[in-house]
Amino acid sequence: MARILVVEDEPSIALGLKSDLRLEGYDVEVAADGETAARRAAEASFDLILLDLMLPGKDGLTVCRELRRAGNRVPIIILTAKAHEAEKVLGLELGADDYVTKPFSPVELRARIKAMLRRTANGDPETCHFGDMEVNFARSEVRRGGSLIEVTPIELKLLSVFIRSRGRTLTREQLLDQVWGTASSPTDRVIDNHIMHLRRKVEATPEEPRYVVSVRGIGYRFDG
Ligand code: CA
Repeated sequence: MARILVVEDEPSIALGLKSDLRLEGYDVEVAADGETAARRAAEASFDLILLDLMLPGKDGLTVCRELRRAGNRVPIIILTAKAHEAEKVLGLELGADDYVTKPFSPVELRARIKAMLRRTANGDPETCHFGDMEVNFARSEVRRGGSLIEVTPIELKLLSVFIRSRGRTLTREQLLDQVWGTASSPTDRVIDNHIMHLRRKVEATPEEPRYVVSVRGIGYRFDG
């Protein structure tokens, strides 16, 4: 049974989430403010944290940043109000794994939670398949329809980062950090260029990508 920490100060939303997720079979604990959330996340082990950003006292972004700084890798899904869209980008940059916009549909939220828990349970696969593609990380080989295709080291790295974060939106800053590292700093144009080349290799119709999807104003998401 997965254990979820719900961080939400609005009693009606917290209560709704709690009963809904319990019905789904999760073990749910609620924290109504940032201080409590940070303390509980540090002293107990959770499989996932649902984190509202607007909280009394310590806000959600601070909680997220502090957990990551302390080396806590618990999956975090942030809950943001539609009026504060910019916060989700910041949240993702601070180490949140996904976001859901309020008001959210319980069905969508449950799907996101399930996907996130499945991803963390699977860990890093050695070989990954999507469409007619096969990526073998151990051998650094990429096949399309069974035939070996050429990819550059950057493209392979991009694929690996995308696959590891499948279903989750990555900002250009995150891609930059995880693919190029801090030593070099390519511009957004360079990132977009590599994505374009990668699409030509993995997409049936690169101009209408099915796998490496653009997320307007944020970055990219891998839907493999
Ligand atoms: Ca709130």
